[in-house]
Amino acid sequence: MTIRRVWIEEGCISCNLCEDLAAEVFEVPAGGESRTRKGYERQLENLDTQERVQEAADSCPVEVIQVEDD
Ligand code: SF4
Repeated sequence: MTIRRVWIEEGCISCNLCEDLAAEVFEVPAGGESRTRKGYERQLENLDTQERVQEAADSCPVEVIQVEDD
């Protein structure tokens, strides 16, 4: 399984967990909702990053992190 795309649906509660797990992919601006960093796709070439992105998706308390894999 390889994650190709990551996005965040509405409803983020800005808990910062995803950025704590994978700061090269997620950023949670102060007072704002999580978003993917510009050019994050390149970071997904790293298997360790993939695992942490999946962990973030599995751990997000409101389950708004979506991943597309193949
Ligand atoms: S883990 Fe989920 S709720 Fe927390 S900041 Fe990330 S997207 Fe938002």
